[in-house]
Amino acid sequence: MATTDRQATTLALAHALSAAERGLAVLPLSRTKLPALRSPHRDDPAPSRCHGECGRFGHGVHDATTDPARIRELFAAAPWASGYGIACGLPPHHLIGVDLDTKGETDSTAALRELALRHLFTIPPTVVVLTPSGGRHLWLTGPPDAVVPNSAGRLAPGIDIRGAGGYLVGPGSRTRHGVYTAAPGTAHLPPAACPPALLRLLLPPPRPHRHTPAATDAHGRGLVQFVLAAHEGQRNTRLFWAACRAYENGIGAALVEPLVEAARETGLTEHEARATIASAARMTGGSTP
Ligand SMILES: [Zn+2]
Repeated sequence: MATTDRQATTLALAHALSAAERGLAVLPLSRTKLPALRSPHRDDPAPSRCHGECGRFGHGVHDATTDPARIRELFAAAPWASGYGIACGLPPHHLIGVDLDTKGETDSTAALRELALRHLFTIPPTVVVLTPSGGRHLWLTGPPDAVVPNSAGRLAPGIDIRGAGGYLVGPGSRTRHGVYTAAPGTAHLPPAACPPALLRLLLPPPRPHRHTPAATDAHGRGLVQFVLAAHEGQRNTRLFWAACRAYENGIGAALVEPLVEAARETGLTEHEARATIASAARMTGGSTP
């Protein structure tokens, strides 16, 4: 048994080193697929925020490295490791894992096919890892400036996404349930770029612009000036345009009164001004004042 364990560790280390050669940062995993090394902070009274700054091993995915010497040290510290994890979201590949589960009733492969049809993308040929439970991991790469979050079932039932801060069980890993293997013919493919339409589904929806108070003031003053400078005949158009920009930038509500005031100075009635601003709010999806 001891020999078998040592063989499993040696094999996992060999696979991990070859993944690292491809630029993938790795860390040792135990048979439960969890990081093999326990946190050096586990006995601290307060939860630790250390991500390895203390210099010790045991910070989960933060231990992941492409440095062969360090990988050997990690495995030497975890002689019970039987697999390795590949950290997602790190340069140079910015790996994104699409984890297609096959447990239960969900057909995640069909769900992905349907998503692809609906959003007009195709999954390019790429590394596919077969899991012992019959699932599949597709490896994709993201652009350096996009932070893809981890998610479980957000895209569709049975589809989990491994992104920044997550990891994938590497092919050649042995777990309690069996061995992870690369699907035939995919082991030596480079991970393919994530199709833009799929990437859009993986990224969190854009948050409304946040301005510092100073920037909001400056922007708002500019819009008010724009309205004040209106000649007769362009007063409503200018007011409408300024109100639209204000709502798009999240300062619509704050700018209603200054805009009404400015519009009145140009000769519009308060009633006209409020009606124009309200239609700008509707048009941009901003809340009506
Ligand atoms: Zn630490």
